[in-house]
Amino acid sequence: MTLDESTSESLFDRAKQVIPAGVNSPVRAFGSVGGTPPFIASASGALLTDADGHEYVDLVGSWGPMILGHANPRVVEAVREAAGRGLSFGAPQTGEVSIVEELVRRVRPLQKVRLVNSGTEATMSALRVARAATGRDVVVKFAGCYHGHVDALLAEAGSGVATFAMPGSAGVTEGTARDTIVLPYGDRDAVTSLFAERGGEIAAIITEAAPANMGVVTPPEHFNAFLAETAHAAGALLITDEVLTGFRASAEGYYGIDGPTAGGAGSTPAGGAGTADGAGSAPAGGSDWAPDLMTFGKVIGGGLPVGAFGGRADLMDLLAPLGPVYQAGTLSGNPLATAAGLATFAGLDDAAYAQLARTSSTLQSLVADALSTAGVPHVIQTAGTLFSVFFREQPVTTYDDAKDQDTAAFGRFFHALLEGGVYLPPSAFEAWFVSTAHDEQIVDRIAQVLPAAARAAA
Ligand code: PLP
Repeated sequence: MTLDESTSESLFDRAKQVIPAGVNSPVRAFGSVGGTPPFIASASGALLTDADGHEYVDLVGSWGPMILGHANPRVVEAVREAAGRGLSFGAPQTGEVSIVEELVRRVRPLQKVRLVNSGTEATMSALRVARAATGRDVVVKFAGCYHGHVDALLAEAGSGVATFAMPGSAGVTEGTARDTIVLPYGDRDAVTSLFAERGGEIAAIITEAAPANMGVVTPPEHFNAFLAETAHAAGALLITDEVLTGFRASAEGYYGIDGPTAGGAGSTPAGGAGTADGAGSAPAGGSDWAPDLMTFGKVIGGGLPVGAFGGRADLMDLLAPLGPVYQAGTLSGNPLATAAGLATFAGLDDAAYAQLARTSSTLQSLVADALSTAGVPHVIQTAGTLFSVFFREQPVTTYDDAKDQDTAAFGRFFHALLEGGVYLPPSAFEAWFVSTAHDEQIVDRIAQVLPAAARAAA
């Protein structure tokens, strides 16, 4: 049986025989919304086609990387060309130098960077550097922030684990869990009192630069700057995780929005951040702050597996073979991945960010109108061009808020959209992803289906 001849249903049945839950990443299983996930046969621009021949407008974008749309001709050509020169060398190659130069040029706090193969590897490695640099074990994270499936960071990790109502993960040792302290997101008092009590034990605070894995939560004004200041006062480090927000929330990620305003090589913050009606907008940060380390993934690989971590040169120079922190990867800096990433960066100019901001805001208005007309309680929150829709009335500022929404209404909305040819993230705890391929025609297609989907949610 070839893929083309199979239906999603039969493929899912086959998959479940040999892959746990039939999927290679939990949220793909449609666990919280129910039903059979479409098996994707091909994708182009803003559209996906499944094994049954159904076409969908894609608002998942592979969870972020496909910022130029699927099978973007320039990205595909760059990968094809790179593939002709060899798939992997396990030795230095020019593409990895060029893409890291691009990262360093675009993001001010980055002095040195290492490439890895996923966001998970990036956060895992950044933690190791932070622990080595400080000689301390404890890491502070926030409830609802997801940093990949790193043992130390799986406590109250939003998104996938929230979708399945899991507090964390079995298989994480008690010792590891003990070294991870989870605080409520945005709670300055909790951070201050923890540091007053245990500041000398803390290696680092890690935070999503803007949380997007419990749905999008706009950071309170200057919150990241406050975290940097608090960590530094205690000799600890701040790691901002921009795996999802990097080169997506704005040209310089969320740091382009709440980092210091002056300078900013290539920094063009696209829109502010806040709820859709502008309430709670976080102005650009005034203080001169920077994270010590940052993590990236998704967009920088243009759809191929890449992650990166970087920041202060003195910290990054702790890595082997210069220093005592071991970190390595057979496929790290892979030439196909760096070619895809470079071609993606080539498409990410000011016009692209302006278009992403316009599309995102048009879509937010359409969704808000449809849900309001149908009388469905909702709140839309943004972080630059990123947004998500919560099925509740009040703004979401913490993980507890995010969990307190009408997930059944979301499920009905999701399935009505899917039926109408629009593929949303299959969970109420996710951001929606647009691309530069989401043009007016595509947005119109979504607009046609929204009113009925909103009525289904009511
Ligand atoms: N950090 C954040 C903020 C993420 O959103 C994700 C993935 O969604 C990760 C880390 C992990 O990245 P990966 O799935 O590439 O391991």
